[in-house]
Amino acid sequence: MGYCRIAAPLLLAAMAVFPGLASAQRSVPHLEDLPRRALDTLDTDDENTKIVIYTNNTWSYYYTDLDRRVDKSVYHDHWVTDRVFAYTDIQLKDLPPVMELKLIERYEDFHAPIVGKVYSKYGRRGRRNHKGVDIPLQVGEPIYAAFAGRVRYARFNSGGFGNLVIIRHENGLETWYAHLSRCNVESGDYVSAGTVIGFGGSTGRSGGPHLHFETRYYDQNFDPEHLIDFETGDLRYHTFALEKSYLNIYSRASETLEEDGEDYERMLLATSDADGELTSEEIVNNITASEQAAIKREKAKTDPLYHTIKRGDYLGKIARQYGTTVKKLCQLNNITEDTIIREGRKLRVR
Ligand SMILES: [Zn+2]
Repeated sequence: MGYCRIAAPLLLAAMAVFPGLASAQRSVPHLEDLPRRALDTLDTDDENTKIVIYTNNTWSYYYTDLDRRVDKSVYHDHWVTDRVFAYTDIQLKDLPPVMELKLIERYEDFHAPIVGKVYSKYGRRGRRNHKGVDIPLQVGEPIYAAFAGRVRYARFNSGGFGNLVIIRHENGLETWYAHLSRCNVESGDYVSAGTVIGFGGSTGRSGGPHLHFETRYYDQNFDPEHLIDFETGDLRYHTFALEKSYLNIYSRASETLEEDGEDYERMLLATSDADGELTSEEIVNNITASEQAAIKREKAKTDPLYHTIKRGDYLGKIARQYGTTVKKLCQLNNITEDTIIREGRKLRVR
């Protein structure tokens, strides 16, 4: 990860913080060179939300209660370390239409959690919701904090995430890293972008080694591919306008990025091939490890099993050893309780 990771087109794209304005910006070149000074402020329907117009023809939302939002109290309020959800008293309907998330100031403020192809995307998966992205990995690969922040949760989660790390960032965003072979941080730790927060694994409900990565705001999930191009390890925005409509399992980053224009054509090419039906590999991976183990156990129960008689063996002892009864052993081998069993003979026990 060098500083070159954020490519020039992405810097340009970062200017287009607000998708609705992207087309207007593209028609006038080099707007990013113009001074960006506030020109005017407009009211909106929400008394706490204003629109600021800048001299370089861009605009942004301004929240009159912004201080409260970005205050370091973010690391103390709604601070829950033993449950994954922290904002149970705040509903989706309570959130504003657009939330401006300042992601980085300098290039080193971001580090891809892992670089690799997303083989299972955010969205509906059959009858289940897949609330993050899956990136295959080797067990033990380091997993990095995407941004600076404070670790809120770092423990084994019995709900299916396995070893799970949740980091809260100063802008309120939370990033989730699941199925780790082990956590490398503890709740309460402050981390920088690029801190190794754990190691890749397959703990919890996982069909094979992969990172399940989620991005959440006030517990509400959105497609992590809005923020990160996992295949290149690039961050897409310096400041991200999180629209409320993105906080929805049916809202996918590829659709929004497509509207943003040509700059993302390469990215779309890289990600669109997985949009269709599940591949057989995904289906296999979706069968959980525990389900696979259960199938194996079930199958094993019906397979015949044999025991070779050793010195000192007798029917009662063998029955106990295999969790069966003398009567069953006799039936299976067509013998009686009085039959003398010789050393070396194979006895069917199941
Ligand atoms: Zn997943």
